[in-house]
Amino acid sequence: MKGICVLGATGSIGVSTLDVAARHKDLYKVIALTANNNIDTLYEQCLVHTPEYVVVVDENNAKLFAERISTSPIDGIKVLSGADALETVATLDQVDSVMAAIVGAAGLLPSLAAAKAGKTVLLANKEALVMSGDLFMHAVRDCGAHLLPIDSEHNAIFQCMPAHYVSGQSAKSVRRILLTASGGPFRTMPLDKLKDVTPEQAVAHPNWDMGRKISVDSATMMNKGLELIEACLLFNMKPEQIQVVIHPQSVIHSMVDYVDGTVLAQMGNPDMRIPIAHAMAWPERFDSGAAPLNIFDVKHMDFEAPDLDRFPCLRLAIEAINAGGVMPAVLNAANEIAVEAFLNEQIRFTDIPVVIEKTMQYFEVSEADTLEKVLSIDSQARDVARQNLLSLAN
Ligand code: NAD
Ligand code: MG
Repeated sequence: MKGICVLGATGSIGVSTLDVAARHKDLYKVIALTANNNIDTLYEQCLVHTPEYVVVVDENNAKLFAERISTSPIDGIKVLSGADALETVATLDQVDSVMAAIVGAAGLLPSLAAAKAGKTVLLANKEALVMSGDLFMHAVRDCGAHLLPIDSEHNAIFQCMPAHYVSGQSAKSVRRILLTASGGPFRTMPLDKLKDVTPEQAVAHPNWDMGRKISVDSATMMNKGLELIEACLLFNMKPEQIQVVIHPQSVIHSMVDYVDGTVLAQMGNPDMRIPIAHAMAWPERFDSGAAPLNIFDVKHMDFEAPDLDRFPCLRLAIEAINAGGVMPAVLNAANEIAVEAFLNEQIRFTDIPVVIEKTMQYFEVSEADTLEKVLSIDSQARDVARQNLLSLAN
């Protein structure tokens, strides 16, 4: 029996994780659930999973939650609040696995704490890895943690890697990785129409049902840029060994190209319960609840190279990983600010890469060698990006 802590339980990945956990109550006990402020969903989850702890980061909502459960059948659950409490529950002795499914930089400290405590980290929160890079990978290696990718592409790659592959190791028999992308909702939209797309259009992904931030990232293809950086770190590859491939059907979730000419692909329906169940059962397998792939429904599969003029965010991510040091953290912070501003209708869709590029130009490349430095750069880059938003509005 393993104990699991789900960071970001109320989000898209969190909900899918609990769906898988509910199918395997004999193997997984839910120890802790965390949310930022969505206490209604959290309450329903607590009724089903009866965790020992919950964290509601927002203090007022934590109080409301504690009051609500005090007169309910689940009044034994300990309710914590504040960002520090995320680290407390991610490192509890009774926790073996931590699902890192908070969106954005807010997930870095608890995910890193889980790695430092030697937990099995199921990593969905790609922003945490992009920001902290080698620091995160070294924490995993030095503290005896296991790192299993949840991002569907990285999970697919992990499944196609040589037997007994460990995240972060270099695999000499692998020539390159083919990182697939759906191309998002605007793959074929005339370029001059992109400036007028609304947040609602941008979050309506053709194949996947996800949180709002990652949905916008998919529409700009910054998601693939962050994933390219994520793949370099997880699989110890150079950026030029990773080829982004647009595959609109999202049946193949990525491929590994070996030195002998073999190309292995992982396929399945676009359902995040598949990579989640893979990582939760690893090194075994168990039911995910996802429908089996009907290969006859897959009429054909298309593959095309990405257009960096249509998707400047992907170009910026490639520039950031090639520059190295703090630049991926700058890219990530500026992207978070720009996407939030777009979702709040402060800037246009096509302004997102403009804000990011201007922010990146402000910074010199230096080593991202301590956590303090990463956090400080993240905060500075957010300030610069906010100034760049203002200059756009004027
Ligand atoms: P989401 O917006 O649906 O959920 C985010 C979760 O994080 C919620 O539980 C929310 O309460 C919590 N949260 C938000 N801000 C927080 C803060 N400041 N402090 C603490 N908790 C906070 O997002 P999602 O789509 O589930 O994505 C989560 C992560 O997984 C992201 O990093 C995303 O890139 C990655 N991911 C998601 C998918 C997907 O299919 N949704 C696929 C691959 C990777
Ligand atoms: Mg992905």
